[in-house]
Amino acid sequence: MKAKNMLVISILIILLLGIGIGIGIANTEVNVGANSQKFSKSDLKELYCKYKVTENDIKFAKGELPHYLTGTILDGNVRVIVSETGAPPEGFKKGEHYDVVIGVDEMFAIIDEACERFIEKYGVDPGNPKLDAVDGVPLPKEEVKKLVKSRKFDSGDAEPSVGILGGPLEGPHAIDGNLYAHVFIAKDTRHKPRELVTGDTSAALSRFETQFGVNMVWYWYFGYWNAGDISPASSCMNALGDLAEDEAWVVDAENDIVIGWLHDMDHNGMAFLDGFYAVCSDTARGVDWSHDSIVQHEVSHLFNAPDHGRAGPNCIMTEWYAYWGKEVWCASCEATVNENIWGGEID
Ligand SMILES: [Zn+2]
Ligand SMILES: [Zn+2]
Repeated sequence: MKAKNMLVISILIILLLGIGIGIGIANTEVNVGANSQKFSKSDLKELYCKYKVTENDIKFAKGELPHYLTGTILDGNVRVIVSETGAPPEGFKKGEHYDVVIGVDEMFAIIDEACERFIEKYGVDPGNPKLDAVDGVPLPKEEVKKLVKSRKFDSGDAEPSVGILGGPLEGPHAIDGNLYAHVFIAKDTRHKPRELVTGDTSAALSRFETQFGVNMVWYWYFGYWNAGDISPASSCMNALGDLAEDEAWVVDAENDIVIGWLHDMDHNGMAFLDGFYAVCSDTARGVDWSHDSIVQHEVSHLFNAPDHGRAGPNCIMTEWYAYWGKEVWCASCEATVNENIWGGEID
């Protein structure tokens, strides 16, 4: 073969390779449930421009910025219990069950201050980030809403129902009108929630008080739950088992429920039906639900409310309404939750 031909062939190969690589990185495919949506690089650029997305917004969505609680007492290095009164749960001993106990007001003050510092430094609000990483691709939340509305994205990843596991024989129910919610914030770097979850959790738990007249007492646990040993790391199912294994020590009565908060999981949350354990994730593989909706949905499972699937009645147990942040229960779920909360009391 002549040198000239060789050169032409080489150039052709280089060109073809170049085109191939170009195509490879030009299109990003996002798969949400049964749907998939393609975004070209210029589509993404345009979206980021439209919604004034910064480099730091993208880094935050990818978990590449430092954690906003770093350097505070809530960063997971010390066992901290947070209670409404500032006193530890009954019978808990310092050094054995906890290192530090603080009140709710103090916790919110620490979180608010850390948030402010983070916003000043990075221009990103962990309480209201601009992006939702859908199937790993950071997309502006406003755009995600449009795609869900037009049914191009599913409103959530349907999670499988999970049978009862852990805790005493009967499902949770109020005793003397009280329910205790123990909320564990995962402490390992992979699973520590990077968005704010505390205020939303309180708001969701309060809804059970308002709707069902039960007295909910909740405690926060920072620096306890290490979810680092679950595999695959994004599995809600395995996280649920891990939570039940690691933190069963707080369940000593049928009015104790346990909620675990995680980061970047395969679902928004998961719970044992009529069980004592639920997990919630600040961001999910599919579209993200607001954090209060996740808590309300998962805790309802603990009182035996079933999933209605993607479409169904106007109810927190229907994915569509959970995504849009409806705070309501349908008549049937309301009756089910009520019956299960008070079941142990009636007899
Ligand atoms: Zn569900
Ligand atoms: Zn319902």
